[in-house]
Amino acid sequence: MSSSSIEAHIALIGNPNSGKTTLFNALTGQNQKVSNYAGATVSRKSGQFFTPHGHQFELIDLPGCYSLSPNSPDEEVTRDFLLGDQEGETPPDLILCVLDATQLERHLQLLLQVIDLGYSVVVALNKIDSAEAQGLRIDPTSLSEDFAVPFVPLSALNERGIVQLKQALRFPFPSAPGRLWKGPAELEESIALSTKVAEEEGLPKPEAHGIQRIACPDNTDTEAEQFIVKKRTEFIQRAVEAGLQRPDDSAQDLTDKIDAHALHPIKGWFLFTGIMFTVFWTIFEFASIPMDWIDGAFGSLGEGITSKMSEGDFQSLIVDGVIAGVGGVLIFLPQIVLLFFFISLLESSGYMARAAYLMDRVMSKVGLSGKSFLPLLSGYACAIPGVMATRTISNAKERLATILILPWTSCSARLPVYVMLVPFLVTGSLSQTAIMFGIYAVGTITALLAAKFLKPRLGATEPPQFLLELPPYQKPQWSHVFHQVWERAFSFVKKAGTLILGISILLWFLGTYPKSNSDDPVVQQENSAMGRAGKLIEPIVSPLGWDARMGTAMLTSFAAREVFVSSLAVSYSADSDEPESVRETVTNAKRPDGSPLFTPLVALSLLAFFIYALQCLPTTAVVKRETGSWKWALGQLGGMTAFAYLAALAVYQIGKLIGYS
Ligand code: GDP
Ligand code: MG
Repeated sequence: MSSSSIEAHIALIGNPNSGKTTLFNALTGQNQKVSNYAGATVSRKSGQFFTPHGHQFELIDLPGCYSLSPNSPDEEVTRDFLLGDQEGETPPDLILCVLDATQLERHLQLLLQVIDLGYSVVVALNKIDSAEAQGLRIDPTSLSEDFAVPFVPLSALNERGIVQLKQALRFPFPSAPGRLWKGPAELEESIALSTKVAEEEGLPKPEAHGIQRIACPDNTDTEAEQFIVKKRTEFIQRAVEAGLQRPDDSAQDLTDKIDAHALHPIKGWFLFTGIMFTVFWTIFEFASIPMDWIDGAFGSLGEGITSKMSEGDFQSLIVDGVIAGVGGVLIFLPQIVLLFFFISLLESSGYMARAAYLMDRVMSKVGLSGKSFLPLLSGYACAIPGVMATRTISNAKERLATILILPWTSCSARLPVYVMLVPFLVTGSLSQTAIMFGIYAVGTITALLAAKFLKPRLGATEPPQFLLELPPYQKPQWSHVFHQVWERAFSFVKKAGTLILGISILLWFLGTYPKSNSDDPVVQQENSAMGRAGKLIEPIVSPLGWDARMGTAMLTSFAAREVFVSSLAVSYSADSDEPESVRETVTNAKRPDGSPLFTPLVALSLLAFFIYALQCLPTTAVVKRETGSWKWALGQLGGMTAFAYLAALAVYQIGKLIGYS
């Protein structure tokens, strides 16, 4: 598709979470391009689509923003883009403004600001499905008349109303309605003056600059600004009164009733703990069945191959390298799937926002605002999106503190390691749940204490107020829940089939060559490259109770934490001639004197290390990008690794002292 057939450029704007990206995907499909804005770390996504009238447009997904007076790097890019100040970008021909229909009043603020800048606008009134479910009645015609731009009700998620939206993008576009309110003579004069100044400076869109300078001056609170805010609010209130009918409050009543318990400072925490406990317990209780299937399947695959192939290095590569390595990780798929199912369920039902609300009070005690909560919450899935989500934190110091502590919220890549180690500590799904709960609590509490320690040292000021929306409780959106679970599961399997497969093969080679003349697998292992590396690292890890192979497995897991499990599986499976399941392999691993390797104390020491260590090079790369400095990225990597080492050391040495083994 040549870009010369593009007839117009459309920019997608909206508050964070209004559904911009979902709409962008619904409109452009696979036809997308991602890059970065010039001079900014903010990513730029563009794509193309056709309307039913056969016009081809380019669509750009602007970073989400609450207003055009920027509070974050994302908002700054969006403002600069609209004013024509963004390097390498020309202002769009039309703005597609995405509003969340369930948050209409608040989101209309942005619409009004965009209209004020003199753009042609079409409104995508998104999440109409949720609005309906909440019993909100919205009259698009009335809103269209008041704002003088078309309002198209739609649901980007369910792809409802997309065609109607495309039809509303009539080309050539209608002219811009222009400013919808008028100030007193004095204000109008200063706007005219400011516009003229911008014109003389040769700025694109001089009136937009003029209004922007008066309506959203940086860091000052002028009378004119206050007046404009008041005018806009009045305008919106009037429009909403005519165009929005709220439900007869029965849904709200139920939500309020539940929230009286869910947000209660004591009962709320009991409920939260209970829910989390149930989630983990379910994972331990039920995942073991499909895990046994997967384990069994890989076990018999290994046996089948062993009996079919002639003995030799190639057989060993397949059985001890590929099958042990990939199987060792894939066995944890059921647990990952269940965990993400519950997380999506809690999000979709509206409970997660309540957890955020409870957390907000704790966070403010350590000097973080609720704005840090969502990034930290994403951290439980993966630190990388978590670090990127800190872009919504306006205070630079608070943002830095959040990035620095974020990897201590336990990401899902640690889950396979935890799940492998916990059964060495206790048996029974209830006790295992308690340990699991403890692991997450330890990580979280340490992260919060670290924030308290770091913030004053980074010179951060008091957190700004954060207004958390508490959406009404609703029935989970099953399609969305399953989609998210599927995405997670798929990326987990993909990682097992690519990165982990590759590393397993590499590890097998390192663990097999160079060969020694001896037939004894122990001597062979010691002679291999891995055995030698293990010998080097052994003095460092033996105070933690680990053997050389755990040490090398730990080193390899800096590529990705899950690799630890594969790595152990690969290196210990070479010990026995019999093919066995991954769990048997690890359980049966012995020290040279024949005592079991994985004692409860050793498992605890490994756990301590994995809770605290930052073993994820992609995270370090993203931290470097987001903080703009290797100093913070490497400092975090070194600091967390050292902390992890000391924690494991303390656990093992104290454990030995008190006679726990
Ligand atoms: P962005 O931050 O504006 O890019 O928003 P996203 O596209 O990431 O969407 C934010 C959330 O809203 C996601 O959980 C979406 O699944 C959800 N969402 C988007 N469109 C709709 C919709 O039409 N209906 C409902 N109920 N949810 C939606
Ligand atoms: Mg988005």
